[in-house]
Amino acid sequence: MTEFRKRAIVTGGSRGIGRACCLALGREGFYVTVNYNKSREAAELLAEEISGRAVKADVRDYDKVCELVKGAGGAGVLVVNAGISQIKLFTETEPEDWREIFSVNVDGAYNVCRHAVPYMVREHWGRIIIISSMWGVRGASCEVAYSASKAALIGMTKALAKELGPSGITVNCIAPGVIDTDMNSELDDKTLEELRYDTPVMRLGKPEDVAELCAFLASDRAEFITGQVISADGGFSV
Ligand code: NAP
Repeated sequence: MTEFRKRAIVTGGSRGIGRACCLALGREGFYVTVNYNKSREAAELLAEEISGRAVKADVRDYDKVCELVKGAGGAGVLVVNAGISQIKLFTETEPEDWREIFSVNVDGAYNVCRHAVPYMVREHWGRIIIISSMWGVRGASCEVAYSASKAALIGMTKALAKELGPSGITVNCIAPGVIDTDMNSELDDKTLEELRYDTPVMRLGKPEDVAELCAFLASDRAEFITGQVISADGGFSV
């Protein structure tokens, strides 16, 4: 089995940002467990491409996530990426909408960290990279549940960084801007154009823009960086 430090688990690795993170980590020589929930074919093709493995687990399911982490033998690098969004007025956000967002974005992060951290503590080494969002920092109108869930991940990052630093584990958060993935396929052209205009570099982000930062945070070059929220947003949040 590949040594602990060169094993990575990426939740929601089948598409979008997670997929790009799997590719970037694969290029850096990691053996990547590509987690997926619905997109089996995409995950399996990707795993084949990077000589990793695809494993199904709904991140909402504590026991399935336990099997995912156990099956990998733990991993030195954990990318907490699986997430869903929702665009709704707050007054139309029903309890089940709120719970759905939190169960994937927040409970999912808890589940995978809860199972992966003991392996890292045992090895006295680990890199946890949590994908939040600039909306978790700034708040987005009509995305209250999503913004709140992504803000929760920022609190989680900072608290975990303090608790796990003495165990040789760094925990950082990436706050992407508007990235061109399926998640934004609901947005119409006019909205996308406005978002592009509000981005100082005048383009939407690519999944690779986030993945490069993820690969850096997973590397030895980032060993003194922890508890940070780092933007990859083309300057949107400035
Ligand atoms: P995406 O293209 O919609 O991909 C979402 C990924 O999450 C898929 O691989 C999906 O897997 C996985 N996923 C969803 N629910 C899951 C569950 N219950 N269990 C396991 N996996 C699950 O989205 P994306 O844009 O790449 O977003 C990835 C992360 O970046 C999310 O956390 C998102 O909030 C964050 N983000 C995105 C943007 C953006 O503009 N796109 C900006 C800031 C932050 P399956 O298809 O296999 O179900």
